[in-house]
Amino acid sequence: MKATTPRLARRIEELLKLKRTLLARIEAKLSEKEVKEARNDHHARRKPRPCGMTIHTGIGCNLGCLYCYVPDMGFPLRPRPYPLTGLQLVYALLYNPYFVPGPSGTLLAFGSVTEPFLAETKDRAIEYLYYTYAYLGNPQQLSTKSILQGSDLDKLLKSIDPKINILITIVTLKYHRILEPRAPSPLLRLDFAKKLVEHGVSVTLFMRPIIPGVTDREAEEILKKAKEHGIKTVVLGSLRVTPGILRRLGATRIIDLEEVSKRLPRRPRSNRDQVTIIENDLKEYIARKARRIGLMVLPSSCSANIWSHGLWCHACKWGPCGDPANAIRLSEEEIIEAAEVLGCSSPRVKLHNYRVLVRCRGSERRWDVLAVWLETLTRREVRVLTY
Ligand code: SF4
Ligand code: SF4
Repeated sequence: MKATTPRLARRIEELLKLKRTLLARIEAKLSEKEVKEARNDHHARRKPRPCGMTIHTGIGCNLGCLYCYVPDMGFPLRPRPYPLTGLQLVYALLYNPYFVPGPSGTLLAFGSVTEPFLAETKDRAIEYLYYTYAYLGNPQQLSTKSILQGSDLDKLLKSIDPKINILITIVTLKYHRILEPRAPSPLLRLDFAKKLVEHGVSVTLFMRPIIPGVTDREAEEILKKAKEHGIKTVVLGSLRVTPGILRRLGATRIIDLEEVSKRLPRRPRSNRDQVTIIENDLKEYIARKARRIGLMVLPSSCSANIWSHGLWCHACKWGPCGDPANAIRLSEEEIIEAAEVLGCSSPRVKLHNYRVLVRCRGSERRWDVLAVWLETLTRREVRVLTY
């Protein structure tokens, strides 16, 4: 186990100073309008989850996957690059009080509500990867079912964090033309994965969403092919449905809707309501196959990000993730000092396994910034209460 050096409180002071310095440096390079746009953007406000901060590289997607919930969220089908420039995005993140810069700071997950490598969005995605790595150095992760080749691939490789984790989504080999009508074929995705692996990039197979009766039946073949293409890790994820997704999947006649409905913990309450179906049995079944084939099964995408960056995390019940040799050793005294730096008065701290409880004096303040900073830097679950 490694000790945190320098002490947590000093690191936080240094990181807060770095944020202020970088913010001023970048502000000097932006126009007043650009600064205003960046400050008003949701990247400047959003609270990251323990698994990191999603970075939107575009708005909308036209690959038309039938299981996609993005159209139900109100995003357009015609994609366009996200409006902020790379420098504005870095500014927005630095302006966000929850954001912790640096290689052990907030995990960044690119893509999320779009495919990052669409013709319309790939340049913006690469620009964001470049700027966030150059200015901030935070751990990067990206999920895709597209491919880049030639000069686009060269540009990508020159722009990324060398320890980036790239998730390549494959959920079917047989039915991709029906279920993912405009996405490149899974075999092309695997070739892309192989090229990335050959360039030293950490690539993970992203088997999400597991479509009952399709993904589980094809799992063995997909996993074997992934292994043959140099992939060593896999993340499994459940299907989320809305009424629209149920309709679209049902219309294909290849999905047994009764099987999907049986797995619903409840019916979606509105057109936008996403409900995750219960698939623990299928996940366990696929995980067993993956292990037998020699792939490491990771509990979630952030876990793949933590592993590829040589970090350690136990911020949720799925942990610990990452290299135990890099587990952060902490004392209650150290957390007390850190909480003080973050504005907590007379902190009282309880550290129990991977859970941290901080009590601050006074009742009026919201302590979520303090909780997010401590959670990010200790990689543990943090609760802050007042007394
Ligand atoms: S690529 Fe992703 S965002 Fe685009 S349609 Fe498919 S699931 Fe949705
Ligand atoms: S413990 Fe693992 S799954 Fe949980 S937040 Fe950390 S990296 Fe993610």
